[in-house]
Amino acid sequence: MKITIGAHLSIAKGYLKASQEAYDMGANTFQFFSRNPRGGSIRKFDQKEADDWNSYMQEHQFGEVLAHAPYTLNMASSKEEVRDFAYRAFSEDLERLSQLPCTLYNFHPGSHTGDGVQTGVSRITEILNKTLFKEQKVIVLLETMAGKGTEIGRSFEEIAEIIAKTQLNEKLGVCLDTCHTYCAGYDIKNNLDDVLEEFDKIIGLNRLKALHLNDTKNDYQTNKDRHEILGNGFLGIETFVEIIKNKHINQLPMFLETPNDFNGYAREVAFLKGVAAALS
Ligand code: FE
Ligand code: FE
Ligand code: ZN
Repeated sequence: MKITIGAHLSIAKGYLKASQEAYDMGANTFQFFSRNPRGGSIRKFDQKEADDWNSYMQEHQFGEVLAHAPYTLNMASSKEEVRDFAYRAFSEDLERLSQLPCTLYNFHPGSHTGDGVQTGVSRITEILNKTLFKEQKVIVLLETMAGKGTEIGRSFEEIAEIIAKTQLNEKLGVCLDTCHTYCAGYDIKNNLDDVLEEFDKIIGLNRLKALHLNDTKNDYQTNKDRHEILGNGFLGIETFVEIIKNKHINQLPMFLETPNDFNGYAREVAFLKGVAAALS
């Protein structure tokens, strides 16, 4: 069986270079920051670069690549200037991605910074309702969060509520992060099928569009968010073997965000592809 697997890579040297790096590590996709993760500015590009990138990915049979919004983007903040940046960056990213061969855009729903989940959810959906548009081909993914601090998206219910309150919600999907989900209190280590069943009941598995594969430095239900190399954390390597074996999710694009260099990512990619290949 073939899987779509890659890692989070830097696009500092361009989209094409990042694709070549992905290919060199044995991957057939990758994730990148839509803009500088801490600051704000968006990377310049020209049409030729986008075309070259697109042909390279076609020639090398890449799956869908994933753009990740910056961490500073917080639609749920109590501060108006923070929400304002979120609005501007998000709409600019959506527009930019429509010029690129990238149809998945992942973001952290946000932190309500003390104002409560309901207020936070309203602020998020207000911005989504202002920015999503009918003609967009990009699917926006809400990432499942660990629930550190006042993070929204720690439960499937919170994600489902955002989706329900967004008018153009055919443009919304979900990216499940294994580290976050486990630390938020979903036992994907011992009961992956039950968790997916719950996901299906509350959100709908048809909404699940991508996976972030990360082991975790913290245990179950700790609401902490620190990634670990696959097999070196509390989830353990067997969890990832089970994910690759699971028919409900093993055809989704998967992205590693583990603390690794090129060789570390290459090892994880090779391992997961090996598990998939053995499934025939
Ligand atoms: Fe993320
Ligand atoms: Fe993630
Ligand atoms: Zn994380």
